[in-house]
Amino acid sequence: MTVDVDVLIVGGGISGLTAAYTISKRDPSLTCVVLEAKDRVGGRTFSVPLKTGTGTDIFDLGGQWVGTSQVDVMDLLKELGIDTYSQYIQGRKFMQVDGHKISSYTSSIPSLSFFSLIDLDRSIKKMDKMAKLVNIMDPYKSPQAKKWDAMTVETFVSQNVWTQAAKDCLVSATRCMMGVELSQISVLYFLSYVNAAGSLQKLIEATENCGQEFKIKGGAQQISKQLVSKLAKDTVKLSHPVLSIEQTKDCVIVKTLNGTEFKCKSVIMATPPNMTNKINFKPTLPAPKKEIMNRMPVGLLNKVIITYEKSFWREAGCSGEIVTIGGPSTAEGCDEGPLCIVYDATSSNNNAALVAFIGGKQAIQWQLQLEADRQSAVLKSLSSFFGDDVWNYKDYREQDWGLEPYSEGSPVCCAAPGAMPYFVSGLRHSFDRIYFAGTESATRWCGFMNGAVQAGKRAAFEVIYRFHPQAITREEVNEAFVISRTDLKLKQKSSHLQFYVFGIGTVIGAGLLFTIYFRRKS
Ligand SMILES: Cc1cc2nc3c(=O)[nH]c(=O)nc-3n(C[C@H](O)[C@H](O)[C@H](O)COP(=O)(O)OP(=O)(O)OC[C@H]3O[C@@H](n4cnc5c(N)ncnc54)[C@H](O)[C@@H]3O)c2cc1C
Repeated sequence: MTVDVDVLIVGGGISGLTAAYTISKRDPSLTCVVLEAKDRVGGRTFSVPLKTGTGTDIFDLGGQWVGTSQVDVMDLLKELGIDTYSQYIQGRKFMQVDGHKISSYTSSIPSLSFFSLIDLDRSIKKMDKMAKLVNIMDPYKSPQAKKWDAMTVETFVSQNVWTQAAKDCLVSATRCMMGVELSQISVLYFLSYVNAAGSLQKLIEATENCGQEFKIKGGAQQISKQLVSKLAKDTVKLSHPVLSIEQTKDCVIVKTLNGTEFKCKSVIMATPPNMTNKINFKPTLPAPKKEIMNRMPVGLLNKVIITYEKSFWREAGCSGEIVTIGGPSTAEGCDEGPLCIVYDATSSNNNAALVAFIGGKQAIQWQLQLEADRQSAVLKSLSSFFGDDVWNYKDYREQDWGLEPYSEGSPVCCAAPGAMPYFVSGLRHSFDRIYFAGTESATRWCGFMNGAVQAGKRAAFEVIYRFHPQAITREEVNEAFVISRTDLKLKQKSSHLQFYVFGIGTVIGAGLLFTIYFRRKS
């Protein structure tokens, strides 16, 4: 069976659904279908019911936090009528870096030695300053691009950060932020990620304007569910994994695992690069796209939610926040304990919970352990900060994103050294009738839900422009083309130039002919 549709969107995460919603709002004449491989929408957001002290409540196993500076997702939440609430950060916080010793602090200044503190502050400021030099529209056009892309963050840190404590803080933050070790990513990519968020502080903190400022009431997966409810019935087709995409002279044929075939005028890919890489394209994708997909592997960040009768850590004057390099290992094959970052995850209904992250190398090593051993290691680690109450949980749920079909990792695909020359053309440029969305391609908070929204809207504008340019504003055209299609812009410029050259040439030519004609006559 072949289904005809104007625009086919691959991926029913926030980005794909934002694209569908934008098209339905701005150009309802275009018919749209979203094909989602999983049996649910939301992609890297996944909100589930867990047992609590009062019954059950919804908790996030994927994307969770938003912040005021994330304007794209905040605007969408407002439009969808979804409320947020503040992340709890009052009270004592813990640190376990440069060894296994645990220290605590209540002010905004971490409990590090004077020298480590200066070192951490200086290193963050240095990276923020470098990040500001990165051209977010095309990081490889930045002044030091070649040098920074040839270097891993590990090399940079070993040359510029003096103390083990400051290094460990950066390692823990990167494991949680990107699911990778410092040795896996390009400095240029890391800096562009920082610049897309505004600063390193905005990325890692839970204070005003930062990335962990608010949580979404009822869970982040609601964004996708609400978007679906705004679309025409049957727009979203679940359990439809796309296998192949073939561009012919005048259409695109998309085939799914369950045998359905779609004939469409345009396609928006809203899948992460590691998943796009598994689809069979005919003709094959241009080299920069293949390069970026091969050189931008997905990280691994697993999330554990543990619910409790009451928030005993708050009662003990603690915020629930921990930054740790892992502490002692309790399993053979694991260099460290499992955790990197912990926060209070109490719901908006006041049902007590903690959220603990297992990221980067820890996630890979601990995945090989028995589930029961991993759970016991997580609780043992938490008990060294909060005491024995951690063992009296109501519910315990771990989400291993590495084992999740059609994600195969999280929270974001990260560029290794040498990948950045292909970053913009690989992630953002269209390939004839195929357009590219997904959080990885965003310029504002890429890797986050905000990036997914921005990229989804941008790809929708590109498609609308292709069919009905009058349906979007000049600003939207600019947003779409400046971010994604610098090549098209250049082509437009040169075609204007050709027009002027041709026009001026014609006028001069006509003038000459007239002059010759009248001279001969006289
Ligand atoms: C543990 C974790 C914590 C996070 N924390 C935060 C946070 O606090 N704040 C924040 O802003 N962000 C966070 N993120 C990141 C955020 O969730 C993502 O950036 C965002 O959800 C990405 O949306 P997307 O639509 O671009 O991609 P995805 O959500 O990955 O959507 C892509 C969709 O494509 C589908 N797909 C893949 N292959 C195919 C195929 N062949 N055919 C059809 N469909 C296919 C997938 O199933 C998926 O549904 C976190 C992510 C994780 C996993």
